[in-house]
Amino acid sequence: MSSQSVVFKPEISKPLLQEVMDRSGQNVLACYQCRRCAAGCPVGDETGVTPDRLIRMILLGEKNEAFNNLLVWKCVACYTCGTRCPNNIQTARINEILKQMSKEAHIEPLNPKVAAFHNAFLTSASHFGRVNELEFMSLYEIQNTRSELKRGGGWRAIVDKIKDRAKLGISMMKKKRLHFKLDKIKGLSEIKRLYAKAREKSVDR
Ligand code: SF4
Ligand code: SF4
Repeated sequence: MSSQSVVFKPEISKPLLQEVMDRSGQNVLACYQCRRCAAGCPVGDETGVTPDRLIRMILLGEKNEAFNNLLVWKCVACYTCGTRCPNNIQTARINEILKQMSKEAHIEPLNPKVAAFHNAFLTSASHFGRVNELEFMSLYEIQNTRSELKRGGGWRAIVDKIKDRAKLGISMMKKKRLHFKLDKIKGLSEIKRLYAKAREKSVDR
């Protein structure tokens, strides 16, 4: 068993804790580590980090660990942890904020595909108020290709992957699962205002 002791340094932990609480709207300080959230998290086994541990990292000001763990990138936002939490702490919202914070800090995402998915989703939703599958898939593939090139991926493998994806796209279109029509929602101006406000807030930080 590890005998490593935990050192609590408020001057280190407070800035991270405060920012996460302000931006996620979650009272992280209320967590008393009962681990009810951990018992129900469907990705906890795979990520190695459960919601209670993530909250502990934030409380201790462990920024690198909080940004670079698979739970942040693989959380499926099922809200099971928050439903079970006696203190109503919604870790899914904390995970969203940690993704955003690591992006703002220009930290290379631990899972580039999830980061590309996240960016493509948000960009497409900002254009139409809802995700347009064709635009979303194109943005996702472009960003994936860019990050693979950045990581030194070979052209041949990348072209093969694009061909596979194109085949998948065509077969989805044939089954009417991919649409060319660009539907917009009625309240698009409100969505655009929300995005603009969120952008302003993130520039202010
Ligand atoms: S269920 Fe809530 S209080 Fe319990 S460990 Fe998880 S976040 Fe903390
Ligand atoms: S919302 Fe995320 S962290 Fe919470 S239980 Fe679901 S997958 Fe796990």
